[in-house]
Amino acid sequence: MLSIPASRPNAYTGSPLDRAGEKRDDAEFIAAALSHPDTLFAPVWRARSLMKGVAEGHPEAVLLTGAAAQSVRMADGPWAFLGLWEGRPVFAVDCSTADDPLPLLPEGMGTFTDLRQVAGLLPAGEASVLAHARGLMHWRTKHRFCGVCGSRCEPRSAGHVMVCQGCGAQHFPRTDPAVIMLVVRDDACLLGHSHRFPNVTMYSTLAGFVEPGESLEEAVRREVKEEAGIDVGEVWYHSSQPWPFPSSIMLGFHAEGLSDEIRIDPDELKDARWFTRDQIRNHEALGFSLPRADSIARRLIEDWMGA
Ligand SMILES: [Zn+2]
Repeated sequence: MLSIPASRPNAYTGSPLDRAGEKRDDAEFIAAALSHPDTLFAPVWRARSLMKGVAEGHPEAVLLTGAAAQSVRMADGPWAFLGLWEGRPVFAVDCSTADDPLPLLPEGMGTFTDLRQVAGLLPAGEASVLAHARGLMHWRTKHRFCGVCGSRCEPRSAGHVMVCQGCGAQHFPRTDPAVIMLVVRDDACLLGHSHRFPNVTMYSTLAGFVEPGESLEEAVRREVKEEAGIDVGEVWYHSSQPWPFPSSIMLGFHAEGLSDEIRIDPDELKDARWFTRDQIRNHEALGFSLPRADSIARRLIEDWMGA
């Protein structure tokens, strides 16, 4: 088998923002941008993003400007500079301290919604901006104190660094790498059903976190062996997907299965099976479902089907 190229961009990629990292330490620029009436603010409330049109099935991101933006900032939560959108500064602002954030906003501005529920329906690029805001605000709200000495941290670099007020340690936003892989052998691929899946008929690719001191290829081989008892040979990178739920990136691979006999880890999986291309094509008739169309798992399956 050869490496299979990614057919399309993954969900949460394709941000329209220029991250403009050089502006983060330009205090004058940041101060002026924070108070400018045209500056855009992406509010995050308890990991939810502000959107309109959700009930109608046409969700759109709502970014605030002017007085609405300033009233959300009154909640006094963390904020961070995300970058420039066609030259306009964009910030994320967390308003989780408010029990109900909607009274902070003018009427009819939308609702706070879980991005994962609607990501595939959002206009191109908007899911990426909201994921960016959500991921960064999650880090900010969970890293208020130093992991070295326990003292309070203060934000620097427009919200991108937390500096300990006790020992001076600098803390940076973290992204945890997870591998997700479609194991392939002859005309079949390996899919599993996890205890965690809310959909009882769904079969999907195996996945797991990369451990310290491990390469991505080693993580793929270890996870497949642990969860399904299958030996893996070659590993081919496919594509990646930001997954800030709360702080991961999914690194997608196709992998060469070297053995047939499945032995599942019952703590991780309820079931795992080899599925042929024909079975995948006829999954509805056969009574099982595949992961969502906007997931990297589905992309790995579809690109293998088309290869
Ligand atoms: Zn410290």
